[in-house]
Amino acid sequence: MPDLAERLVELCGARGVRRGEAVKALDPGFHKDNLSADLAVFPETTAMVAAVVALCRSEGVAIVPQGGRTGIAGGAATAPRSLILSLSRMQRILTLDPLARTALVEAGVTLGALQQAAAAHALVPGIDIGARDSATIGGMISTNAGGSEAFRYGTMRQRVLGLEAVLPDGTVLSDLTQVAKANEGYDVKQLLIGAEGTLGIVTRAVLRLSGSPANRVSALAACPSAAAALAALDRLQRRPGLALIAAEAMWRDHLVVTAKSNGLDALASFAEAPLYILFEAGGDDEDAVRAAFETALADAVEANEIVDVVIAANLAQRTDLWRLREDWAVDRAFPGGLWFDISVPLAALDATVAAMTRRVAAHDPRHRVFIIGHLADGNLHVTVNAPSPIRDVYDEVAPLIYTGLKEIGGSFSAEHGIGLEKRAALQRYGDPGKLALMRQIKHLLDPDGLMNPGKVLLP
Ligand SMILES: Cc1cc2nc3c(=O)[nH]c(=O)nc-3n(C[C@H](O)[C@H](O)[C@H](O)COP(=O)(O)OP(=O)(O)OC[C@H]3O[C@@H](n4cnc5c(N)ncnc54)[C@H](O)[C@@H]3O)c2cc1C
Repeated sequence: MPDLAERLVELCGARGVRRGEAVKALDPGFHKDNLSADLAVFPETTAMVAAVVALCRSEGVAIVPQGGRTGIAGGAATAPRSLILSLSRMQRILTLDPLARTALVEAGVTLGALQQAAAAHALVPGIDIGARDSATIGGMISTNAGGSEAFRYGTMRQRVLGLEAVLPDGTVLSDLTQVAKANEGYDVKQLLIGAEGTLGIVTRAVLRLSGSPANRVSALAACPSAAAALAALDRLQRRPGLALIAAEAMWRDHLVVTAKSNGLDALASFAEAPLYILFEAGGDDEDAVRAAFETALADAVEANEIVDVVIAANLAQRTDLWRLREDWAVDRAFPGGLWFDISVPLAALDATVAAMTRRVAAHDPRHRVFIIGHLADGNLHVTVNAPSPIRDVYDEVAPLIYTGLKEIGGSFSAEHGIGLEKRAALQRYGDPGKLALMRQIKHLLDPDGLMNPGKVLLP
């Protein structure tokens, strides 16, 4: 597309365009086709994004918006003759108002950068994910990211007060509301949130910030079941003087593989249990938090909700506990596994995990199921692994994970989005009326089908 490249240089400058090998030299991120396009553009302003979108529309060129390329559903994957539109040069935190507790940011700001800026005012974005140093606010809005703090502060949908986006026809939707209450008809910005770049390109957003406790204390609790872990969670949430910040779940197989891979063997064997919860509590007075946390955890042990617990004594130990949860040791040990991201109503967690594990074992005894998740949301990240890569059996294994979820009020797609991977599942488990409306909305906003084509909805 040499002509298009020249026109893009006119719009965004030579530094704002990459072709061929220069595209392949970028970090590909988490999907093998993220850099399959031959051309990438890096606009610096909303006006540049709008001009690029208008040009592509007139030339019939498909656009794939990209942030940090940490998405794990294939939403940022590209085809050779499409254009990557990267937000990586739109990285400014434009305002941060500590009294209003809001920040106006460009879409390419990483979560880590916003966390750092907010921390200077004892505030947090209220969203935290393992990919914090690469994932961008635009990408997180577009996937409606959740993460470990969602049970406390909500998902991205609840964190966005205002939004600016370039629609597929090149017009700019500007709704940069700074206030919580603005009932001005349909909340159109919510359509863009979670749309995975299929309805437009997010360029700026106003986000809520929340107060952050000055000190955090982490503990690893071994629990006899998810039901017991949930009782402990409830106990900790009700404890006066304790702000519970995280309740991250790891089923035993994950903990053992990850602990051993990180040289943390003592943690792999500190208490034999099916499930481990990384609880984190916060407060301004560390001693007071620690005392309240210890008492509540001891009560939970007394009530048989927790078998045994280890409390991090210092930052190094806290970091070790988080490494157990966030490290991708399972993926290193068993490359080429299958990733699933489901939501389960809390009361059904134990039964769902047991049934799904049984189904996978019955299907192929070589397959192993590793599960981690965000306990309070019932959000499980399930990976199915085998001694050799099994990516080609995704379609066989997916129904073993998804069966029955819809009937009990859960979801086959919790926080990572649909992208390419879950389109067939959306078609199978989605409500027909909702799917029809989604197609109408897509056609209305993007009649030429050029905005991140082929994602979310099957063609
Ligand atoms: C180690 C690790 C841990 C993770 N933990 C979590 C977690 O706890 N919770 C969670 O929810 N996710 C998690 N993720 C998934 C991922 O980080 C999120 O989906 C994140 O929101 C993606 O942001 P990104 O900037 O990397 O987007 P990308 O991967 O670049 O893009 C993701 C999707 O958004 C679209 N998009 C990107 N930017 C824009 C934009 N400005 N406008 C319109 N569309 C856009 C893309 O086209 C694509 O469809 C994790 C990923 C990794 C690798």
